[in-house]
Amino acid sequence: MASKKIAIGGISTECSSYSPLYQSKHDFKSIQGQALLDLVDFPFSEFDIKPYPLFFNKSVPGGPIEKEYFTQVKNQFIEDIHSLGKLDGVLLLMHGAMYVEDIEDPEGEWIASVRKEVGPKCIISVSFDLHGQMTDQIISNIDAFAAFKTAPHIDVKETYQRSSMMLSKALNENYRPYVLWSAIPVLVSGEMSSTFEEPCQSIYESLELYNQEPNILDCNLMIGYVWADTKRAIASSVVTCTDEKSGAIICKSIANLYWDNRKKLNYGMRTGDIHSALDSLEDDFSIIADSGDNPTAGGVGDRADILKVILETDLKGTLIAGIASKSAYDELTNGNQFTIGGTFGGGGPSLKLNADSVYFQSQCVIVKVNKTTIVITELRRPFHSLTDFTDLKIDLRSFQLLIVKSGYLSPELKELSVPSFMVLSDGAVNQDLHSIANKKRNTKLYPFQDFDDFVPDASNGKLIVS
Ligand SMILES: [Zn+2]
Repeated sequence: MASKKIAIGGISTECSSYSPLYQSKHDFKSIQGQALLDLVDFPFSEFDIKPYPLFFNKSVPGGPIEKEYFTQVKNQFIEDIHSLGKLDGVLLLMHGAMYVEDIEDPEGEWIASVRKEVGPKCIISVSFDLHGQMTDQIISNIDAFAAFKTAPHIDVKETYQRSSMMLSKALNENYRPYVLWSAIPVLVSGEMSSTFEEPCQSIYESLELYNQEPNILDCNLMIGYVWADTKRAIASSVVTCTDEKSGAIICKSIANLYWDNRKKLNYGMRTGDIHSALDSLEDDFSIIADSGDNPTAGGVGDRADILKVILETDLKGTLIAGIASKSAYDELTNGNQFTIGGTFGGGGPSLKLNADSVYFQSQCVIVKVNKTTIVITELRRPFHSLTDFTDLKIDLRSFQLLIVKSGYLSPELKELSVPSFMVLSDGAVNQDLHSIANKKRNTKLYPFQDFDDFVPDASNGKLIVS
């Protein structure tokens, strides 16, 4: 028998509808060819499957995607699929929280276009971020689904492999799985639903137990994405199964489990404004997360609100990493004067400063203003790994306070086990959920509304399954 033929590719980003900074072609990195196969890292040949890598376009989360770019890249993907001829399967790598103006469900539209191109017999297996959104359009066009089970995400590769395995087994053993989903009227930030803190730690552990139930292939809880004001924004459970009735029972059980724990969702660290953060600081090395401007959640990453307070306070030994500003970076190539804050359109104060010292390293410029060291980045980027600092010749231990644009601390920063505080600062990903505009979300959602009546339904995207 000839090998089965599958295509691999997709698009992944997370878009805050509150960000003024649109994403287009230049924001995306395209992973193709062997690099894409290496990323998925699954032994398809052992299943007599020949994979055809197309492209996987990925960006640092940001603002809305320009409609023209979205349409162009989606059409390109469909053309690439078309050029492969008849396919037995498709492995789609998506995030699930894209926002494109006038397109309510961009991932759904992408997946529906793939389905239209490959026909009804082809098996489509999808991998999502747990901060993605589900819709009937997505569910009704796919055959298998796996999402991350960790946030912060440390199981990306495992998730690709779960979707690859479901696809490979379905093709090899000639069956077609079902995917069901239950919407759950809860919508919180990733910080309130870290899988390394309760209640989500236990909930995600229980997904493994549900996976052991008969006819169940893969259970997921989708937290959703709170910073896109869209109709589809809601949490959900998603189950891939070989029997719809069994899948529906499990799907509804997971939905009830999350719903019943909704009031226990919390930030998992001390929170408040910058003044309460500074008041609570001890003498030991500490970390403050400037959460409203966190680029990995879709914030712009250019705001100087916290820097302004730090300069006024004149604390000893503070490192701020980083603030994105192409214009300040360029100014510093000519002298020590620079203007920083909101230069990509993210808002907040604009500060005219004079650097006491300046050095350039790896598309960053590190300046010292009085007792404060500031890393100014030419591009938007996070500082989550210890090598992000060593690469810039920065010794964290020589500072008393580190301020990063982040929500929950990255695993490496958390591992330092030092006092930490999350500032609920302004920005495109404001963690103070009651303060964000809520115009398009027209269903009742906890914590925007407090209510008790919820009975989950399980749907296959076309019909309620009972
Ligand atoms: Zn995520």
